[in-house]
Amino acid sequence: MSVRCGIGYDLHRLAEGGKLIVGGMELPFDKGSVGHSDGDVLAHALCDALFGAAGLGDIGTHFPDTDARWKGANSLLFLEHARKLLDEKKFVIEHVDAVVITEKPKLGPHFPKMREALARALGLTADHIHLKAKTNEGVDAVGRGEAIAAYVVATLSER
Ligand code: MG
Repeated sequence: MSVRCGIGYDLHRLAEGGKLIVGGMELPFDKGSVGHSDGDVLAHALCDALFGAAGLGDIGTHFPDTDARWKGANSLLFLEHARKLLDEKKFVIEHVDAVVITEKPKLGPHFPKMREALARALGLTADHIHLKAKTNEGVDAVGRGEAIAAYVVATLSER
């Protein structure tokens, strides 16, 4: 079996007002993530990890933020599209491992629903998706609560 890994990273600024959507779930919080689409940092990093592993470029190539179609877009649609492209190239998603970094809010309690939402968009079961939460120990923009970031590694096999 041939196995390929891809890495994805994303960061969004957090600002008063607006929604905070992470992993397809809207979280109760007094700040929202700033972005052209729904600003889902985890979905975006995951998308890039999948595109990277499959050699399909990056999220900006497929969903440019200059395109009005993606304004306010539900980022789970990006994942559904990525999955279709992977299917066409005969790639199977074996595993996804992610770290989401933010000082607040606490993410862990929301992980079960995020895993379900991400897995559904990718046509997987939730046991293929692993999520971890970190703070940035008060350091830098993420530590000051000005931004949220995510790293994702995706592992694919070729059919
Ligand atoms: Mg993004």
